[in-house]
Amino acid sequence: MCGIVGYIGFRRADKVAVSALKRLEYRGYDSWGVAVKSNDEIKVYKRVGAIGDVSQFELCEGTISIGHTRWATHGKPSDVNAHPHTDCNGKIAVVHNGIISNFQKLRESLEREGHVFKSETDTEVIPHLIEKFIDSGLDFENAVKETLKHLKGSYAFVALSSTEDKLVACKYKSPLILGIGDNEYFVASDVPAILEYTNRVVYLHDGDTVVLTRDSYEIYKDGKKVNREVEIVPWSVEQAEKGGFEHFMLKEIHETPKVIEDTLLEYVSDEIELDVGFTAGISDVIFVACGTSYHASLIGKYLIEKLDEIPVRVEYASEFNYHNAPLSRSLVIGITQSGETADTLEALRKAQKFGARTLAITNVLGSSVTRIADVILYTRAGPEICVAATKTFIAQLIVLYVIALRLSLLSRSEVNEILADLKLLPEKVRAILDMEDYIRKIAEELANYENMMYIGRGLGYPIALEGALKMKEISYIHAEGYPAGELKHGPFALLGKQTPVVACVLRDETYDTMLGNIKEVKARNSPVVALTDENDSEAEKFVDYVIKVPSTNVLLTPVTYSVVLQLLAYYAARSRGCEIDKPRHLAKSVTVE
Ligand code: GLU
Repeated sequence: MCGIVGYIGFRRADKVAVSALKRLEYRGYDSWGVAVKSNDEIKVYKRVGAIGDVSQFELCEGTISIGHTRWATHGKPSDVNAHPHTDCNGKIAVVHNGIISNFQKLRESLEREGHVFKSETDTEVIPHLIEKFIDSGLDFENAVKETLKHLKGSYAFVALSSTEDKLVACKYKSPLILGIGDNEYFVASDVPAILEYTNRVVYLHDGDTVVLTRDSYEIYKDGKKVNREVEIVPWSVEQAEKGGFEHFMLKEIHETPKVIEDTLLEYVSDEIELDVGFTAGISDVIFVACGTSYHASLIGKYLIEKLDEIPVRVEYASEFNYHNAPLSRSLVIGITQSGETADTLEALRKAQKFGARTLAITNVLGSSVTRIADVILYTRAGPEICVAATKTFIAQLIVLYVIALRLSLLSRSEVNEILADLKLLPEKVRAILDMEDYIRKIAEELANYENMMYIGRGLGYPIALEGALKMKEISYIHAEGYPAGELKHGPFALLGKQTPVVACVLRDETYDTMLGNIKEVKARNSPVVALTDENDSEAEKFVDYVIKVPSTNVLLTPVTYSVVLQLLAYYAARSRGCEIDKPRHLAKSVTVE
């Protein structure tokens, strides 16, 4: 999820690796490491914490290196779990980004064959597999290619051998680029790592293997040599960090399709692989969360009640801290992106004190919540830099779908149908990203107002709440989310030409009433932006702007609609010249109560 680099050339390779890793620091990481080859030996240095400088470690002066910044997914952040990882004899070293989803089975069979593992990571199976195939007679390059046939999941990795002046790097569903210098080559997970050395880049494709020697590079796919276009990167380092996007927020919204794929990969193969032993004997579920995670919880409530018929309530974590009743048959689920949200940690401790079983959903392995809750489920969104949560919210929803479907009372074929729809979501989100220009124009209109309402019914209500939160936190427009039915009980007084309303229209049992509510709003002269299903032709007849969202199972609309609302907030804030990635007065990880 974080950064990898590989270098072969004429420079001091330890220095190149460290400076390239520093260029990837903006992505966030928990530990780092470098391996250098010289005189048929590989020296490894790896540590938890911030990247040090070369003088910190006594590596050899080789000209081939690999380096890594880790965002732990399997095994806590520790010196031992940091990359590079090696085979039994330290002859092969590997750095890896992503997840090897079948690592457990591979590890068990390698251990039976006598391989001894040092770390808890999924990554370590890679050097051991390479070693195994070298022992069976293949050369280094072919051993890596053979290894690929056994790996499932998502990965970008670079392998280094102590006996050959060669790097072999492979990409599948995790980013990897090749940098071409004069008499030197680089691989890296992202362009900024290498921009100080070269701007000639090949964007590798999924399934590509690149073999680097001192004077050439070759790319293979499906066993055949392929040519890939060399592109000149026109960006400065700062632009490159954002992948050419103007802000991290926009970059992260664009990462959503991959985040959905990665999070699904974690819990779903042909069917859902999630041990739900933690739900045995529970009578009810209580979510505790704050901010965006609170809205994810409201969606979780809707799903669990609808699919599983288990009563659910959702509490602001900060208010749950005043709770005072036994919870011996409750499952309390805390959702916290950072795993450090003080209010949520405290709520989970409180729940345990009252006898509840606890489950945490978080994006950060090794974070404080992982030491408190009984069960941890990870979202696989990778580091999120923008303060306003976007891709991590979507990843939370995916985990909630997985839980709700796993516990569901639906038939197997009904569950499989929804799973199939879930797997199509990345495609739907890409189609929304293609509509960005249209959404931007509407957002630029909304940017002229100081107050807004977001409304929805049923599942549309938490979507509206989250849309309004996104708008207020980054554009500073006062935006309120309301159940559409509540407007007439007070907020109607605020409607008028100066108060636009964003309406989330779902094609379910709420549809007709929702259209009625929008007509009431129009009668009070508020401009209306409606989000509807692409096949809907009613709403557009009486609203000012309609955003037709690609059709999906209505249960999954929180994902598609939320991406639209994130873009709407982003472009409104951009139009108002706000500092989007770091909104005033806000912090990414809220560690005080
Ligand atoms: N899954 C690997 C680990 O936990 C790699 C994580 C990363 O991409 O940094 O070590």
